[in-house]
Amino acid sequence: MDFSRVELDEDQQRFLEEVRAFTAEHVTEEVHEHERQTGSGFNLGVHLELGKRGWVMPEWPVEKGGAGLDPVRAKLLDLELHRARLPDVTMGTTRLTIGTVEKFGDPIMVAEVVKQVAEGTARICLGYSETESGSDIAGAKTRAVQDGDEWVINGQKIWTTGAQQCQYAFLITRTDFDLPKHKGLTMFLLPLEVPGVEIQPIHTYGGERTNVVYFSDVRISDRYRLGGVNDGWSVLRGPLDDEHSIGGPEAERSFQDISIGSMFVHQLERALDAAYAWAKTPAPDGSRPIDDPLVQYRLGAVALRLEASISTPGPLGRVKGSESLVLGGAELVDLVGPLALISEGHPDAHAGGEIDYSHRFAQGTATYGGTVEVFRNIIAQHVLGLPRANYPGHKVLSQKRRESSAAVASPVPQPA
Ligand SMILES: Cc1cc2nc3c(=O)[nH]c(=O)nc-3n(C[C@H](O)[C@H](O)[C@H](O)COP(=O)(O)OP(=O)(O)OC[C@H]3O[C@@H](n4cnc5c(N)ncnc54)[C@H](O)[C@@H]3O)c2cc1C
Repeated sequence: MDFSRVELDEDQQRFLEEVRAFTAEHVTEEVHEHERQTGSGFNLGVHLELGKRGWVMPEWPVEKGGAGLDPVRAKLLDLELHRARLPDVTMGTTRLTIGTVEKFGDPIMVAEVVKQVAEGTARICLGYSETESGSDIAGAKTRAVQDGDEWVINGQKIWTTGAQQCQYAFLITRTDFDLPKHKGLTMFLLPLEVPGVEIQPIHTYGGERTNVVYFSDVRISDRYRLGGVNDGWSVLRGPLDDEHSIGGPEAERSFQDISIGSMFVHQLERALDAAYAWAKTPAPDGSRPIDDPLVQYRLGAVALRLEASISTPGPLGRVKGSESLVLGGAELVDLVGPLALISEGHPDAHAGGEIDYSHRFAQGTATYGGTVEVFRNIIAQHVLGLPRANYPGHKVLSQKRRESSAAVASPVPQPA
């Protein structure tokens, strides 16, 4: 890993100033307030402004709707958007999947979607998880049945974050219940604004909005299929590996965040700033918590966790990042006391309630994008080179799951 400083040349410095001017103008307090109220991880106004500059897909060439940025400028843009606290979950899921859509989609459909994604008018959410298959994505039971040149889709997804502001779901379906689990799957880029799609919100303890999405006799054209029928698992591998930070040498050389965990830990950074501000505030007798060496030590320990998370690559960083948020957040709550748990919006909230928010937000990071336990398996297999887990009863369980999948013949789950 190369820790050396990147010296910006004049053009890069100018670009940095341009981005800072953009965030000052567009990522305003109203944007933050909207995010606090909705937890949607998205702001339409800012997203469209990014699209006008080609900054939704900044490394795409200009003629494709991007800005043709080199990796340094693209990194500067992402860093500044993070610093300005742009709600960017939906931009993230769109960027994660669009490359696979391009690779496996019908060329005419792809041309339309690529243009809209670049200008910001189309966004893509991840339609993987179901009530009985989260970690086990390949256990999906949402059915797609071919009817001439169309597909009829029935079933239910859960935790489909951003569905309410996306035009498409990157959807995994089961097209053959008789084939082995990973072989009977087909992927679609499902348009969400069609009859039979119903989106219901879930609001999490962490302040995020996610969704349940129901599909009742949803009809879509075959041109929305990605890759071959029953070949969905190979289509899904690319975005899954990206989400799991299993990048190849290309990813290691680039300026991308070195781990998915580093996205989360920016929140701990803000909570740490809030705790530091608290520690420097004098009490009526003039004493300040920061003058106590133990307080310095505890703040320093959280700062160290933060740095370690940002610097830990790949799937290890994913686990480290989530653990740092959970443990670091708890440490800050313990240090600052009840004041830390007053939520933003209350007149007594300290520093915008950042510690409280961070502590709540931390819990979900151990789950989405793959749980930390699943990432430990990935580390064992892909980093340490250990064999796949083969615990006692594994085969029996797999067989039982296959039988129960086959038994789910047709019932269409209805909205509650
Ligand atoms: C806020 C939020 C947003 C989300 N957004 C999305 C989204 O946009 N799209 C989407 O498709 N999904 C999304 N998810 C779903 C998320 O990916 C799943 O919740 C996650 O993969 C875990 O699946 P599960 O909840 O079914 O738990 P399960 O898979 O049932 O796991 C239960 C427990 O068993 C453990 N476990 C399971 N398998 C193994 C294993 N092989 N080895 C060791 N331990 C194991 C898990 O770690 C966990 O502790 C989101 C979830 C949350 C909470």
